Amino acid sequence: MSAKKNENDLMEKIVSLCKRRGFVYPSSEIYGGLASCWDYGPLGAELKRNLKNFWWDAMTNRRDDVEGLDAAILMHPEVWHTSGHVTEFHDPMVDCKTCKARFRADKLEEARCPLKPSKSPLECGGELTEPRQFNLMFKTFMGPLEDEASAVFIRPETAQGIYVNFLNVKNSSRQKIPFGIAQIGKAFRNEITPGNFIFRTREFEQMEMQFFVHPSEDEKWFEYWREQRWQWYLELGINEKKLRWHQHDSGELAHYAKAAYDVEYEYPFGWQELEGVHNRTDFDLSRHMAATKKDLRYFDERFTEKFIPYIIETSAGCDRTLLTILVDAYDEMEIKGEKRVFMRLSPKVAPIKAAVFPLVKKDGMPEFAINVYHELKKRFKVFYDESGAVGRRYARMDEAGCPFCITIDGQTLEDETMTLRDRDSMEQTRLKTPEIIEFLGKKIR
Ligand code: ATP
Repeated sequence: MSAKKNENDLMEKIVSLCKRRGFVYPSSEIYGGLASCWDYGPLGAELKRNLKNFWWDAMTNRRDDVEGLDAAILMHPEVWHTSGHVTEFHDPMVDCKTCKARFRADKLEEARCPLKPSKSPLECGGELTEPRQFNLMFKTFMGPLEDEASAVFIRPETAQGIYVNFLNVKNSSRQKIPFGIAQIGKAFRNEITPGNFIFRTREFEQMEMQFFVHPSEDEKWFEYWREQRWQWYLELGINEKKLRWHQHDSGELAHYAKAAYDVEYEYPFGWQELEGVHNRTDFDLSRHMAATKKDLRYFDERFTEKFIPYIIETSAGCDRTLLTILVDAYDEMEIKGEKRVFMRLSPKVAPIKAAVFPLVKKDGMPEFAINVYHELKKRFKVFYDESGAVGRRYARMDEAGCPFCITIDGQTLEDETMTLRDRDSMEQTRLKTPEIIEFLGKKIR
């Protein structure tokens, strides 16, 4: 079997597991779906919430120098003129004159011809048009009139909401530079070629942090945030061998950036960007200051001068990180001749932290198990299951990414200990309820 086939197989397996187990469903599926739009099911919604909390905790709660923000998706249209998005936020697009499909001119090698899916548009023999620039911003109308005067953009990134609130946050939080503002929120881009499941979609969520620094300290803070973000992925349990840095050369650098590095992950479809860390200089605040005539400079007692802060940005995709977690966690093992799937999700983000099973549905085991379940439920997301053979119950939880299963058996009724089985090591330990609570607490935090 070719390597390409294996990669496709893995993505297909993940997409199908996500649907089957309730991580991710195609959007509006009973209407035939809507291209590249996805809905998070019960397990996916929980996983996404845990992931966002994990990011928010690391980027704000555990720090004294980063404040949180939740800005509106719709912003004054001038913001997008000032930011350069109206004139610069383009991708080059080509059309195939043969099959009429549309592709990103800079991603032709990765694209597939709809008529000959084994070939890229460069190999299929179709005639391509010259590249044309295509603006990625979605537009809508605000109010009852549908004319240019009421046109607004649906934000293509969360960063601008942070820049326009720089003064507000600085004044209300009384933070001193260096400090940052973090935000998680939806962004929308009319991507020419979305695809690879939730990797590239037109509606997605970003987890962005903008850190404001003195211009003479930009490089120091750039390195600092690169290191922080790398460690965050390791804490999340991502395999370090599948992560690498990609430095943007002068040809790739965005119009606003002095330096940029991407964290890349090796997906089944190749190495791709997961997060960008950018030195945006004073580009953003200077532009907003010129456009609004508001003084966005900062007076720093250390330097006894007023200056426009430089910005170090860390910009991660929430859905893309979620895909990374799923791909990284997917594992298959043969047990007693049967192929079994294990989603080796970290307890920190796993949707269900533990499952509680009575070994059999008699002798008082379900009653004991239900009490344990209610006790754990006060603190953790847990799941109770008494149906079917215990082996099948383990298998279902392994597939759902649940890291621990707790089984109540005959011995429990004598000494109140239960077996706690670790999904990854398969080790079983006998513990009482208070010890289980302590154990889970440590694993999750
Ligand atoms: P790409 O080169 O993949 O289009 P980008 O360089 O335009 O990405 P940024 O503008 O730096 O991306 O956005 C920051 C992060 O937001 C990306 O690293 C990615 O994780 C996420 N992201 C960007 N576009 C999309 C999308 N269409 N779907 C899902 N996530 C996205």
